[in-house]
Amino acid sequence: MTADGYFGRFGGFYVPEVLVFALKELQAGYRRFSQDSDFKDDLHNLLCTYAGRPTPLYFAKRLTDVVGGASIYLKREDLAHTGSHKINNALGQALLAKRMGKSRVIAETGAGQHGVATATACALLGLDCEVYMGETDVERQKLNCYRMNLLGAKVNVVRSGSRTLKDSINEAMRDYASTSDHTHYLIGSVVGPHPYPTMVRDFQSVIGAEAKEQTLAQTGRLPDALVACVGGGSNSIGLFHPFAEDKEVQMFGAEAAGEGIETGRHSASVVAGREGVLHGSRTLILQDDDGQISETASVAAGLDYPAVGPEHAFLSGIGRAKYSAVTDREAVSAFHQLSEAEGIIPALESAHAMHLATIVARDLGSEKALVVCLSGRGDKDVDQIARLEGML
Ligand SMILES: *Cc1c(COP(=O)(O)O)cnc(C)c1O
Repeated sequence: MTADGYFGRFGGFYVPEVLVFALKELQAGYRRFSQDSDFKDDLHNLLCTYAGRPTPLYFAKRLTDVVGGASIYLKREDLAHTGSHKINNALGQALLAKRMGKSRVIAETGAGQHGVATATACALLGLDCEVYMGETDVERQKLNCYRMNLLGAKVNVVRSGSRTLKDSINEAMRDYASTSDHTHYLIGSVVGPHPYPTMVRDFQSVIGAEAKEQTLAQTGRLPDALVACVGGGSNSIGLFHPFAEDKEVQMFGAEAAGEGIETGRHSASVVAGREGVLHGSRTLILQDDDGQISETASVAAGLDYPAVGPEHAFLSGIGRAKYSAVTDREAVSAFHQLSEAEGIIPALESAHAMHLATIVARDLGSEKALVVCLSGRGDKDVDQIARLEGML
């Protein structure tokens, strides 16, 4: 990494002047507490006693046999409290907010998963919580709104723009610019201006650190490959980062090809995006010829974001990680495959990684091993798939 939040030429700090003070304070706060052993101990304790860490590394034997290729190990983030990896980052940032003397936390959410994780962390730590959510998303995800209310959070409905995730991020940034003296903005992925891509990666790196230790203990060596889905890119970078210097370990990211890259209805920012600046960061973005942000689509709401974390743009550019796009149809098929082969219903986001894992496993061949991040559980998606398949 280059200095000050840059990954090669990607990343950075492209924000309006009204946000500079807040973000400089956050950079200093994060720099201080990321080196503070009391902070690290407290976070580690919360992750272990509250969030259910370490999550298991599970050898999926039946799936491995069905696929025919490298041994497939699942990093079970679906077993973390609230059902996905998002709690790792929410707890980390909420604890940081508290240490920095903030009493209020705001967040943006698309499908509601990050909003629920944030509301959970705030309830645990006694922080006021408000979550910005687009009107379109509120209608699609009523139950997650109610969940956030149950957890004591207030949902602010966003009626600007396309009334979805990117508009919620804009509203949350506006709020943060005028309230940062007592408010922390808890971003849900490795996106946004410095320090978020670095800070969120560090909080999610617990995934890869555990996976590394667990594969060594279970197999006596490092895995040959890592596979994860990429929305903003936090579960994937969390798995990848602790292996960054292990050059023999290959890295694969699965983006959402939606209805197919050629249809334009997808969310594959690395595979099909162009360089630009969005939400304070230079990265790969889905945009039209005028630089207007494209509408995105995916069966998995958590992958539906028109950009990607800047570190992924960098890793793709230097060839350290490889990115491919998985269609809705392929993901739904992998969703069924894992459910039947292993008795594990994956989140639709994670099902994208599962599909790519089967391809990588066959390419590697049977003497090899790979770890795939099962980023979340699929209970939230069962209703949607049942409807899609005409069962409800
Ligand atoms: C939100 C979400 C994702 C995508 O976010 P990343 O920042 O790319 O990890 C993936 N899986 C699940 C289960 C999610 O909830």
